[in-house]
Amino acid sequence: MKTIFEPFRIKMTESLKVTTAAERQYKLKAAHNNVFLLDAEDCMIDLLTDSGTGAMSDRQWAAMMMGDESYAGSRSWKRFETTIGEITGMPYIFPTHQGRAAERLLALTRVSAGDIIPNNSHFDTTRANMEFAKAAALDLPCVEAQRLHSDFPFKGNIDLARLEEYIGNEHERIPFAMITVTNNTGGGQPVSMQNIRETKEILKRHHIPLVIDACRFAENAYFIKTREEGYADKSLTEIASEMFSYADAATMSLKKDGLVNIGGFFVCRDEQWAEDFRNALILQEGFPTYGGLAGRDLEAISVGLREALQLEYQQYRHATIEYMSRKLVDLQIPIVRPSGGHAVFLNASDFVRHIPAVQLPGIAVVNALYREGGVRSVELGTLMFGRTGQVAAQELVRLAFPRRVYTQSHFDYLIEVIEEVWKQRHKLKGFRIVKQAPFLRHFSAWLEEL
Ligand SMILES: *Cc1c(COP(=O)(O)O)cnc(C)c1O
Repeated sequence: MKTIFEPFRIKMTESLKVTTAAERQYKLKAAHNNVFLLDAEDCMIDLLTDSGTGAMSDRQWAAMMMGDESYAGSRSWKRFETTIGEITGMPYIFPTHQGRAAERLLALTRVSAGDIIPNNSHFDTTRANMEFAKAAALDLPCVEAQRLHSDFPFKGNIDLARLEEYIGNEHERIPFAMITVTNNTGGGQPVSMQNIRETKEILKRHHIPLVIDACRFAENAYFIKTREEGYADKSLTEIASEMFSYADAATMSLKKDGLVNIGGFFVCRDEQWAEDFRNALILQEGFPTYGGLAGRDLEAISVGLREALQLEYQQYRHATIEYMSRKLVDLQIPIVRPSGGHAVFLNASDFVRHIPAVQLPGIAVVNALYREGGVRSVELGTLMFGRTGQVAAQELVRLAFPRRVYTQSHFDYLIEVIEEVWKQRHKLKGFRIVKQAPFLRHFSAWLEEL
């Protein structure tokens, strides 16, 4: 059979409030034309992020009822430790309340002022935590990553030549290097096993540890299985374990491939790293066997991580994204190809060519999608990345897909909304900023249509 269906059926539903175009027009205006300021219930299809927005399975909910809420050494902690130990092969496992807490404590314990932390691309919270520790967060994406339409299968790779060059010059200033799988900032693009292995080889020669930012490690494992030679017959768990075998430590936001709504972890091999992290964790997050999470969260995570590594689940997840991409390409709507693991990106500069970057073409598309169909997306362009008076390198609109939440008919509706906006693209107008904060302005800016 050609049709790949959702490998689950639904036994609990959550109503969507159906809104009219007139209502949405009013709501958007009241939100100063910034979709971050809308109430979530006014968004029929909410594609703002895939973080913490997934649906848990009946097995996860059942496991939550088994949560052991003992302060120290709970059964739930044991299960969490065993599961993550088996997948990552790391001896020291620490829960944190989300990914950035693991990053913050890693920076606190291992990063000093003046250090350099290379990465394929730092995610914003990772970058912010490294910079807060007065280190430089260095992005070294491979050259293919900049080519929006290149079909290179592993556009998330780190640039090995540049990594080697930086290490040659700045060896003592690098306490560790990172690889983010998949490369979120670079569009959820995958990193190949070969690239991780070669990164490790370079670092090993200079005695520099490798830390994996593992938020979407299961989606990355699926890309390796389907795109990289030699992995077709391996299970996703085997592939994930090989990925972690090259790392000395890892941080993870379990709100992604943990298939839960909150949680994170830090794992490592080195005893001293573990000792320092444990002490910081007790001070700032909680006792090391719960680390800011409830026992029931630890249970849901243990089940979720296993479910994320199920082949049928990843096949369905990737099929959803491919389905969307293919339909949009057929309609000749400009998107970034190939699509990454958790989102489809519209290329706003090509979508509304008459709107220059200073007039926020991404926002024009984002707001039109909301007005037309109650779809909430996010601009990754001049509003998010440009500083006052400057424009961003690219004007993109991200449609991030929550895990196991929307069905194919929601996606068909979404495609229809995008097509309708595409037909009316010549009529869309640009926006200007009327009020903005000094940092992270996209979250709270007030915008006015031109
Ligand atoms: C989400 C994310 C983080 C931060 O995790 P939070 O749970 O949101 O704190 C770090 N790195 C990457 C790649 C992410 O996608």
